[in-house]
Amino acid sequence: EAKQPGNRRYQFYIASIGAKSQEAFELEIQMRQALERQEFQLYYQPKVNLLTGQIEGAEALVRWNHPQRGIISPVEFIPLAEKTGLIVPLGEWVLRQACHQARVWQDQGIYPLRIAVNLSPRQFNQSNLTNFVVDILHETGLNPHYLELELTESTLVQNPESAIATLQTFKALGIRISIDDFGTGYSALSQLKKFPFDVLKIDRSFVCQLTEDSRDEAITTAILQMARSLKLKVVAEGVETLSQLNFLKGHQCDEIQGYWFSPPLSAEAFADLLSTGKKFPLLSS
Ligand code: C2E
Ligand code: MG
Ligand code: MG
Ligand code: MG
Repeated sequence: EAKQPGNRRYQFYIASIGAKSQEAFELEIQMRQALERQEFQLYYQPKVNLLTGQIEGAEALVRWNHPQRGIISPVEFIPLAEKTGLIVPLGEWVLRQACHQARVWQDQGIYPLRIAVNLSPRQFNQSNLTNFVVDILHETGLNPHYLELELTESTLVQNPESAIATLQTFKALGIRISIDDFGTGYSALSQLKKFPFDVLKIDRSFVCQLTEDSRDEAITTAILQMARSLKLKVVAEGVETLSQLNFLKGHQCDEIQGYWFSPPLSAEAFADLLSTGKKFPLLSS
């Protein structure tokens, strides 16, 4: 009798692990088919220049339009894609689609727009990455100056020597490099400084408490000051409120991205936004 509750707990534990991996397994099989069935879709979130009020660029964010489950967030499937290696063909599709879309918008006479694409660690460590990016730029006809690649600190520090070489190649081509989710990694600034990059994206976790938590204000102010002296641009992600926006504007942040201006949009909705010429209201600072 005494043993039973523990036993049950144990069985429950096994069952829940089993259910979890079963679900992951099914998702993996479906993900393999999803590429062929064209179930992935890119959404675009504007990046707005805080001085001019103009949309300067867009971050391409992948969604999975699952036939039964509806739209699935990348938070749910990117880690699995990374683990299984499916991120390589998926990332290839994302890069091609994003560059193609940017070129189409340019051809339609919409002002030149910079497109940002996220690269996962596994993609970044592909030995043929730089050739592959060059091929896609040729294929889609996108000028490399309009491509931006977003990488996290942890991706870079895995293999610093080859990361530096890869970034130098990208930089020589005119591609812009951003450090995504800045401040959440464990890398020391002394280590980060050897990587040639152009932009720091302040992680949403600091931005969301701005004007509420003085520690986040201090961290954000410090990142902005440091970036200015290192001649880096700063983008704040996850800006949702006017007070966050005013704080960032007051501290000379270059660009913002967040629900306050616009959530990620389908290509059609994004083109509509561009054609209305929606400008960020230039607030008196
Ligand atoms: P990320 O690159 O840091 O992208 C920013 C995320 O913040 C996006 O989530 C975006 O929708 C969300 N966001 C933007 N503004 C706001 C805001 O004001 N409030 C809140 N609460 N959220 C905001 P999303 O689209 O779910 O993407 C999550 C992550 O998945 C991305 O984080 C990126 O790491 C990864 N991801 C998305 N697309 C791709 C892709 O094509 N390739 C790779 N390797 N990773 C991707
Ligand atoms: Mg990103
Ligand atoms: Mg980010
Ligand atoms: Mg993030």
